[in-house]
Order: sequence, then structure tokens, then C-alpha cells
Amino acid sequence: MVVRMRANRSKTGKRRSHQGLVAARAARCSCGALRLPHRACAECGMYRGKVVIDVVARAKRQARRDKRREKDLRESGQASQAKQEDKMPTAT
Ligand SMILES: [Zn+2]
Repeated sequence: MVVRMRANRSKTGKRRSHQGLVAARAARCSCGALRLPHRACAECGMYRGKVVIDVVARAKRQARRDKRREKDLRESGQASQAKQEDKMPTAT
């Protein structure tokens, strides 16, 4: 914490000179996609030459979840309500 009465513009500027944001660096994966350094690739699931994420299984899992969520929404009747709201002309 700083003493309020002692803060002048010069001191504030010097303190904040280290607070600048730095753009995230991107590395190119062997599959050609951009990825963060020291992170597994989201496209192919490779890290340091090894497959660490099963991308196909993950996609299947996500598809199954989406399907189930859609089904639950349809059964609860909210999906039809949402569609009706879309069809309704907007006021004003
Ligand atoms: Zn990759």
C-alpha cells in the first residue's frame, strides 16, 4: 500500500510501469494449429511428440452431452417455448 498524500504522478507512473499487459505468445504445433507454449494442442491432443488428450473420445463425449441436453430441454417443453419466442415479432 502507498501513502495517499505522498503519491505524485511521477511515482504513480513509475509504479504502474510494470503493469502493462503482454500479448500471449503462440507456438505452432506439428499439426499446423496455433497453440500456447507448454500446453497440449487442442486440435490434435499432442504434447512433446506424444498424444496426451484423446481428441476423438472427447468430441464423442461432447456430442453425447449436447444430444442429451437437447433431449432434456425438449422433454421439459422449454425448447418449444424458446422457438415460439423467436418466431414472435419484436415490439417497437
Ligand atoms: Zn496439434
